[in-house]
Amino acid sequence: MWAEHTEPGRIARKVHRMPEASSIQLTTPLAMVPGIPPGLAEAMALMGLTNVGRLVAHLPMRHEVQEPESTIDQAVPGRIIATRGEVTAVRTSRGRRPRVEAVLTDGTGRLEVLWFNMLFMREKVHPGVRLWVQGKAARKGNAIQLVNPRSMVLRPESEEPALREAQVRPIYPASENAKSWQIERAIRRVLPEALAQIHDHLPAAYREPRGLPPLADAYRMYHDPRSTDDVLSARRRLAYDELLLLQLGVHMKRHHLRQSLRAPALRADEEVDRAIRARFPFALTPAQDVVVGEITRDLASSTPANRLIQGDVGCGKTAVAVYAMLLAVASGAQAALMAPTEILAEQHATNLAKLLKGSQVRSAVLTGSATPADREAVLAGLADGSIDLVVGTHALLTDDVRFSNLALAVIDEQHRFGVHQRARLRAKASEPGVTPHVLVMTATPIPRTLAITLFGDLDISIIDALPPGRSAVRTRVVSRDQRAEVYADVASRIEAGEQAYIVVPTIGDEDAGEPDDGELASVRWVHRELEAGPLKGKRLAVLHGRLRPTTRDATMERFRAGVIDALITTTVIEVGVDVANATTIVIEHADRFGLAQLHQLRGRVGRGTRPGRCVLVADPEAPEAMQRLAVMESTHDGFALAEEDLAIRGPGELFGTRQSGLPPLKVADLMKDRDLLGMARRDAAEWIAASPTLARPHEELVRRRLLKAYGDSLGLGDVG
Ligand code: ADP
Ligand code: MG
Repeated sequence: MWAEHTEPGRIARKVHRMPEASSIQLTTPLAMVPGIPPGLAEAMALMGLTNVGRLVAHLPMRHEVQEPESTIDQAVPGRIIATRGEVTAVRTSRGRRPRVEAVLTDGTGRLEVLWFNMLFMREKVHPGVRLWVQGKAARKGNAIQLVNPRSMVLRPESEEPALREAQVRPIYPASENAKSWQIERAIRRVLPEALAQIHDHLPAAYREPRGLPPLADAYRMYHDPRSTDDVLSARRRLAYDELLLLQLGVHMKRHHLRQSLRAPALRADEEVDRAIRARFPFALTPAQDVVVGEITRDLASSTPANRLIQGDVGCGKTAVAVYAMLLAVASGAQAALMAPTEILAEQHATNLAKLLKGSQVRSAVLTGSATPADREAVLAGLADGSIDLVVGTHALLTDDVRFSNLALAVIDEQHRFGVHQRARLRAKASEPGVTPHVLVMTATPIPRTLAITLFGDLDISIIDALPPGRSAVRTRVVSRDQRAEVYADVASRIEAGEQAYIVVPTIGDEDAGEPDDGELASVRWVHRELEAGPLKGKRLAVLHGRLRPTTRDATMERFRAGVIDALITTTVIEVGVDVANATTIVIEHADRFGLAQLHQLRGRVGRGTRPGRCVLVADPEAPEAMQRLAVMESTHDGFALAEEDLAIRGPGELFGTRQSGLPPLKVADLMKDRDLLGMARRDAAEWIAASPTLARPHEELVRRRLLKAYGDSLGLGDVG
């Protein structure tokens, strides 16, 4: 909503006279600052802005240029104008594009103002009201029009003089009772005093060659810019700082791991290699061989490995992980594999058991739904070393899980876990100063930009080709009125002996009915619908997160065994699930999902030799949404799709900021600030090489700010 974002002319650009100049400290509560009304201080406190320091750290989310005001007769079509006048007529029309129209006059001319899809403007705009507006002027016949302008009702008792010069105004994250302009005014109130107390953690000799302004200047220019250049310069410094501190943290952690901890060096020779390869029912692909080589070198060394294995869906990451785990077993040590879901853990365990049939390797599975007796048995086996390999979920992380000799921890689908889980697995080593090697695998192709930031402390291996005999999945986008055909097609695939996934965004209630316009279909409704009609007589089952784990496992097992023809499911099958006979996936409301997620889901089919088919059902209103889905039809490159997603939806959406542990960036933008990121990375690497723990006296401030900003999300607790 545009209205009342800012209050024109309200903020006089003069330095306020301080009642007691030296009384304001960064720690001074806002309620104690003269000139900040108590109500506002209270409202700001609710936003976490409790003292002067926090207020100054509350950065604008963007800036707006506020134009100088002109009279209506001076409005030039095609230009952004600001003006004010009296409302003389208002009209509201509903219908397909509801709108409010008003006529504004100021004695020099007449201006038409239109608000589309903002019927609430009716409440504010009445004949006789004085209004300030800013927007792009357009000629409509004889009239001059503003469409969806920023606007503000001017109160007779507090109407400020018109602005004569353009101003760049910060727009702050705000709340109902602490509006952006009020926060702006409060910040201006404390800024001069606060700035004098802001110490720069970068010395001039460091800043100047990089063209970065002093920190206090950056804050001044960001909160109170004189020009758009000020904003750019300030933003560059603040964004660089975020990225530098982040990269310092990442490099510091990496250094700590490699220098002060040791991992078991595993035996890796031809004999072991031959024995392990003989276990697989297939030859590893050249792409897998390359990565196996990288991992083997890692594990044969006592420098703890910390490696990310990336590879598109279906490229065969599991085989590579199993190879590494057997390497550990060959040295008489233990290995653990952690998966994000029970379904996936069970699947890994089943496959491992098959692979290890007839060998002496003892494997076990540990998930949250294990019975107490089973759990006890597994814990005992891990602690005394009688179990070599364990597959599990988060259940592996609890404190009572102890290993006698853990040499390798593998984390599948890392994007579902954060740095903390990695750290907790590391802590499972049996002796102080020793840590297992860690491999993390992800099928969510992570754009390089993000990989650097998120996993900057990891080495990266890429499996860049699929096993032979795979044919690409054919993807089609269809609208909802083609569903009958889609499901007729699914029926005929089932009759040909193949299986299908049908993915629906919500689970729905027991009695979920047919969705109304704009409502999402639910698993339960789609199940009933298909059962009664298009897939009548086929063996259908539902799968979703609200089912009991045992039911879920049983269903998955029956699907795997071919006893179920089609699974109607939520995205619980998103990652890892591997059933080669499933050839078709239908995704309802496909526009609800991110591209990377759709790619993951699509990866469930085309795993055998029969071609896979993916049908995206959607009727998005926005043309961009349609374009986005069309990208799925034309590309099968997960990396390209992930870059696209990152650009459209941002990293938080792509990974779920919380799970991924992706640190919060307030100013920097990983897509836009790639150059700054590169610079920060090089600078941080050099800095940590010279001073691994930032313990030199002049580094104290950098160190403190780094720990405060990223200590938690990077898991730096144990570092120095
Ligand atoms: P992802 O990388 O998505 O985790 P998986 O490890 O689940 O992929 O492997 C996908 C499928 O490919 C599995 O059925 C697996 O058995 C099979 N596979 C893996 N490596 C090979 C190979 N070298 N040759 C043939 N099939 C393979
Ligand atoms: Mg996998």
